[in-house]
Amino acid sequence: MKQSRLALSFVLVLALGCGGSGGDFNLISLEEEWQLGQQLSQDIARQVPLNNDPTVNAYIREMGQRIVSQTNMANLPWNFHVVNDNEINAFAIPGGHVYIHTGLIKAASNASEVAGVMAHEISHVLARHSTEQISRQYGISILAGLVLGQNPGVLQQLAAQIVAGGALARFSRSAEEEADALGLQAMNLAGYNPNGMVTMFRKLLQNRRSSPGAVERFFSTHPLTEDRIQDTQRRIQTLPQRSTITNDAGFSQVKARV
Ligand SMILES: [Zn+2]
Repeated sequence: MKQSRLALSFVLVLALGCGGSGGDFNLISLEEEWQLGQQLSQDIARQVPLNNDPTVNAYIREMGQRIVSQTNMANLPWNFHVVNDNEINAFAIPGGHVYIHTGLIKAASNASEVAGVMAHEISHVLARHSTEQISRQYGISILAGLVLGQNPGVLQQLAAQIVAGGALARFSRSAEEEADALGLQAMNLAGYNPNGMVTMFRKLLQNRRSSPGAVERFFSTHPLTEDRIQDTQRRIQTLPQRSTITNDAGFSQVKARV
């Protein structure tokens, strides 16, 4: 598997006629991924009801930037969007676009719970899980064509899939664990109480029992289990220092506005 992906990656690099990307098995460069994200986000903006409240958007953007600033992609342009949708969901697409539903803000009890989910979504981008998913699903030649703007039909198909499914694709268990671990570290470094990730995950599990429809799309794309919550709790115990921001003044203001 690794062998064949490496071979495919080599073919893509030749096809694009440019240098390889940073990681071992990255199929497109970061620059190309950011270009793809730009195109996809424009399609999504036409299809989902984005929230335009400046107070809400500024709060979510600042929280996102604060977390991103603690990662190895701090120097890239990120975009944080708020979607007017009562489902408890959040998702990220390639190229640093992160979407938070108003339903998630309403369901959260404090800032660190929103930060926990946001850090998890940011980490799917850091680990480049989405471009991996696209190449698995559509094949490497399509991915190359997407970046070059040669497959507008597939691009629209991807955007429609994101809008309908609430995310790009179902992530694997190992991708989820990686996003949890990276996200926990980033939120903690950004000053947020890492327990927010645990309490928000618990809320999602509770909601799955009490009102499954409200979290259906989150669970279908991010397989969340009690095991993952326990792993997160164990990771918190091993952090050298635990940050303490659980809530902030902006959160209740934002919650009242969504
Ligand atoms: Zn996930």
